[in-house]
Amino acid sequence: AHEMMINSEKLTVAGQLAAGIAHEIRNPITAIKGFLQLMDSGKNYNQEFFSVISAEINRIEMILSELLALAKPQLERYRHIEIQNILKHVVALTKSQAILHNVHIKTKFHSDPLFVLCDENKLKQVFINFIKNAIEAMENEGTITLTIDQHDDYFVVVNIQDQGPGIPKEILDKIGKPFFTTKENGTGLGVMVSFEIVKHHNGAISIDSNSTGTTISIQLPMTKSCE
Ligand code: ADP
Ligand code: MG
Repeated sequence: AHEMMINSEKLTVAGQLAAGIAHEIRNPITAIKGFLQLMDSGKNYNQEFFSVISAEINRIEMILSELLALAKPQLERYRHIEIQNILKHVVALTKSQAILHNVHIKTKFHSDPLFVLCDENKLKQVFINFIKNAIEAMENEGTITLTIDQHDDYFVVVNIQDQGPGIPKEILDKIGKPFFTTKENGTGLGVMVSFEIVKHHNGAISIDSNSTGTTISIQLPMTKSCE
């Protein structure tokens, strides 16, 4: 009975997701079609139509690229990788955005190399998603603290701590649902995709939030370098 429940729950999420995708992509397509018709009619030519069309196409691209991260994990891509190296790379990738928002990224990494068995690109996506959310939460200035620690000999723990306004309780229940966003230009996919990826790595995510900031904690099973 337990198994069945899990399966039907999965179906609901897939159904929810499919409906969401259809809806989110149909809107920009309808807009693009409308503007193309206007331009085609000849009477209503306006240079501005191009930028609207291009913005709508960008939106579709953004949604699709986030959804692609959900593609089935390919086991052959899993490798034993030092988590410190992944985070160093992620910090380099998010640096320009942080600087643009006057955000400083502070790192406190465990001095011994800690290894996880992972699809490196997917894990990077997870950390990037949460760092982006942290930057966006602080709007303009603040510090993000990234820590890497080990928990017993079994888990690597990565914390992403921001100084944003925190997540209200009623929103906390909704984040991670497909397309839930409180941002004008958000996709509402980042947290859902990240939860999925971490689940595929047999890890867990917890969120601790109050009015002085939010800490996202990602636990991943620890491995030995040459296991
Ligand atoms: P998006 O960033 O496109 O809105 P996400 O799935 O990444 O989608 O996040 C969903 C929502 O969760 C955000 O719109 C925001 O309301 C909330 N959220 C996520 N991370 C944080 C954070 N660090 N601080 C405050 N709110 C957050
Ligand atoms: Mg996001």
